[in-house]
Amino acid sequence: MPDKLLCEGFLFHNVLESGIDERVRPSLSSWEDAYKIVPPWDVGRPQPAFVELVKAGELNSGSVLDVGCGTGENALYLAGNGFSVTGVDLTSRAIAAARAKAAERKQRVDFRIGNALSLGFKNGFFDNVIDSGLFHTFTDNDRPSYAREIARILVTRGKFFMLCFSEKEPTGWGGPRRVTREEIETTFTPLFSINYIRDTSFATRIHNNGGKAYLTSATKIAA
Ligand code: SAH
Repeated sequence: MPDKLLCEGFLFHNVLESGIDERVRPSLSSWEDAYKIVPPWDVGRPQPAFVELVKAGELNSGSVLDVGCGTGENALYLAGNGFSVTGVDLTSRAIAAARAKAAERKQRVDFRIGNALSLGFKNGFFDNVIDSGLFHTFTDNDRPSYAREIARILVTRGKFFMLCFSEKEPTGWGGPRRVTREEIETTFTPLFSINYIRDTSFATRIHNNGGKAYLTSATKIAA
């Protein structure tokens, strides 16, 4: 388990501590504050779980939306592997950092500020959506709205991949909500067919071998 004192010293205290409460969504200002330093999820490389998905050829070809993209490592990795990628994040600091990385690496990703609960894209716009550490920050009320919004912007048979902390990760250090398989099924089954919910790990700057996580693969079913 990561050191609670270590976490408490950081500016992202509000994000980490409010995230665990099912009724409180971290505020925009607490997300902006989190990016004044390098937050614990910002590991400077793509999440291994997404690298494996790409290597296994699990994504549909074409476009990908990385929702809650942070500073863009997963989005940039996908762009480097032949996908047409858009990254959306609520936080201007994260989007500025992601754009700077894309420019420096001479890569093309459309990074833009936006809200995952109300995305400015047409119905059926994307072939895939990935979520690395966003869903587990939402309240119970947000969850069905989020599922509807992701389903809306995905093409029928489009793929959704989500990495979130699981209930197997200890809560003693704070952090975002832990999610159960049943919660994932309840949230997404009305609109998606769930292919699997797999045990995996979530790389962070405060875990040695990653936090205990679920990787969900789901396919949007016809309305
Ligand atoms: N996917 C990134 C960041 C994970 S942390 C990574 O793996 O590094 C969660 C991210 O979601 C933060 O960058 C935060 O700013 C963003 N976020 C929180 N609520 C959001 C919302 N409603 N819409 C879009 N992004 C949001």
